[in-house]
Order: sequence, then C-alpha cells, then structure tokens
Amino acid sequence: MTYELPPLPYAYDALEPYYDEPTVRLHHDKHHAGYVAGLNKAEEQLAAARAAGDYALIKHWERELAFHGSGHILHTLFWENMTPQGGGQPSGELATQIAQDFGSFDAFKAQFTAAANAVEGSGWCLLGWAPAFGKLIILQIEKHQDLSVWGVMPLLIVDVWEHAYYLKYQNRRADWLSNWWNIVNWADVARRFAGARK
Ligand code: MN
Repeated sequence: MTYELPPLPYAYDALEPYYDEPTVRLHHDKHHAGYVAGLNKAEEQLAAARAAGDYALIKHWERELAFHGSGHILHTLFWENMTPQGGGQPSGELATQIAQDFGSFDAFKAQFTAAANAVEGSGWCLLGWAPAFGKLIILQIEKHQDLSVWGVMPLLIVDVWEHAYYLKYQNRRADWLSNWWNIVNWADVARRFAGARK
C-alpha cells in the first residue's frame, strides 16, 4: 500500500494571521510530505526484506517505520485539529469529560500549555483518551520516533524483557519466541481486531 500526503482541509492562508501561509506551505508540502515519502520507503524495504527472508537491517527499517509513520499520523492530526473558525471552548460530552478529568477547562488549558512549553527539544503535546484508564490524559511526546506509531490500537504483544523468559530460557530469546508462537490466543487477537475496526 502506498501512502499519500493528504491535502490541507483549508487554504494555505486560511489560518492567517495566527498561522502564516509561508510556514504552513513549507510545513505541509515539505516536512509532512517527507514523512509520507519516508513511510513508503520503509514499507517498501520491509516488504523486500520479507520477500528475501533477509532481516539484517530490521532495526533500521522498523525505526524508519516508527519515525515516518508517527510523523505522518501526527501531522495529519495536527492539520485536522485546526480551522479558521476555531477557538473558544468545547461543548457536550468532551466538555464534561475535560471538567471531570482536569477540574475545569481553564485548568486543562493551563496544564496543556505548561506541558507543551516544557517539551524538551522537538516534540509535541497531546490530549488523548486512555481506554485502560477511562480518562483523558495529556502527554508530552519528546521523540515520536521512539519505536511507536501513535494511534495504533494494540492487538497482540509479546514480552521480551529478560524477566519474561530468563529463568527458563536464559539468554535464548529466540527459543522463547519460537515457543511463544504456540501459545498465542488468536481468538483474543481476532476479538480485539474486530473491536478496533468498529
Ligand atoms: Mn511538524
């Protein structure tokens, strides 16, 4: 599958004077486009590795997938999160949830602003829904490339920390992994997949 740079949902100068046209144009047409190109390259190289059965560069291409994949997803979200008719405050269920989880809209805004200001280096600040906690949380993203792709819903996981296998397998992680495939609950994975697709 080939990913494409989504067009801006508004004109390049639509966010003036708050967000200037030259920056929006460069940010979207060059920076965001670069992530899309990098994501396609990573997917292409991973497909080639699967076809050849050659995983010598697996760490490199998984990192490229995480960096460009997250960059693509987060920039798409960033553009869609803005509108010329923006500002003000949320209403409805979102407003209620924000008040419940942060005390008030003003308190949420203060925490979000402080967290965004305190991000070290290049990064992001995110408001997200944490299904496991049943609440909204604010997260600083300092390096979006750190081996995750934001917004992905987990379906299947294996623990490869040494504590997960060392007593039985010692340093033989490959043995742990080859045995682990025998105990995967595919019905559970399928149930999660169906839920994620809803
Ligand atoms: Mn950017």
